[in-house]
Amino acid sequence: MSSPPNNPKPSSRIIAMLNQKGGVGKTTSTVNLGAALAQFDLKVCLIDLDPQAHLTLHLGIEEDRIKHTVYDLLIDPECTARETLISARPNLDVILSEVDLAGAEMELARTPDRQRLLQRKLEPIASYYDVILVDCPPSLGLLTVNALSVAGEVLVPMQAHFLALQGVGKLLETVGLVCQSVNPDLLVTGILLCMHEGQTTLAKEVVADLEDFFTRSRGQDVPWRDCVLIDPPIRRNVKLAEAPSFGQTIFDYSPWCKGAIDYRRLARNLIKRWNLDVNVQEVISIRPPATTIEAKPASDVDIEIIPVSEEPPAKSDSITTVDSYPV
Ligand code: ADP
Ligand code: MG
Repeated sequence: MSSPPNNPKPSSRIIAMLNQKGGVGKTTSTVNLGAALAQFDLKVCLIDLDPQAHLTLHLGIEEDRIKHTVYDLLIDPECTARETLISARPNLDVILSEVDLAGAEMELARTPDRQRLLQRKLEPIASYYDVILVDCPPSLGLLTVNALSVAGEVLVPMQAHFLALQGVGKLLETVGLVCQSVNPDLLVTGILLCMHEGQTTLAKEVVADLEDFFTRSRGQDVPWRDCVLIDPPIRRNVKLAEAPSFGQTIFDYSPWCKGAIDYRRLARNLIKRWNLDVNVQEVISIRPPATTIEAKPASDVDIEIIPVSEEPPAKSDSITTVDSYPV
């Protein structure tokens, strides 16, 4: 269990990472965008709303630290968000998931106001975070509706694949319905292209179609009227696929690989878009917990501030961690 950070924030952003398709990069983006924002010294909370609990595994939280999960939070009226919070890294807290969550939709079928359970439970802690990212399940059921009721905005991680636009259309329809019923202020603010292979003809065509679609939506009374393709797209990078099996973020695992560079740039661009008062020239370099990295002596410095660059540091630099080189 972890206490939320001390100082309430002037405003906190709650973002649903949403796509009804599995395998498109939702969890990878939630973890690594969250970790990148935390390294820019923002207070970040991640919520795993997927019964597959991939985010939980990705962060490598030891089982004995998990007392309560988001399942308890939703099902048990007495369970509070504070009880479920776990500190995963400096500046990065998490509310974890478990397989039992798969039954929650059925168990909650008769609960009054069941679309707003998460919203009510997060209210006491939300203002302590700059950003809360909710990793949604690959479905459009009650769990997702709970995420959309509490969120201010939706980011859609997706791959530039055949039929991508149809998938996005269906997703936007659902967001539109939720807006009408439980959250009229919800906005779809961005499409995040994941596993992107920008040089392929297919990817170029899909990107052009998406841009055309969103340009035509400008000025219309729809929640995606301001939606943009977020820069940068996240390139396909095998290190991003390897990191979860070590229970590590990409910054723990390989902080200068293409994947880490992309998520760091993404965080920096979002911070600018959101007008947050943060120095994006510096990043807190956070060493992974010694227990999750074999090669690291426990006596290493835990946190140091370093200037952000697009390049890896020189080989002798003390912040270099496991196989940092390069891209
Ligand atoms: P979702 O949460 O939408 O189901 P994931 O984030 O779990 O999708 O990603 C699906 C798979 O693709 C995972 O094995 C993940 O490690 C891998 N993956 C995600 N992003 C990338 C990337 N940019 N490059 C390579 N592999 C990726
Ligand atoms: Mg996932």
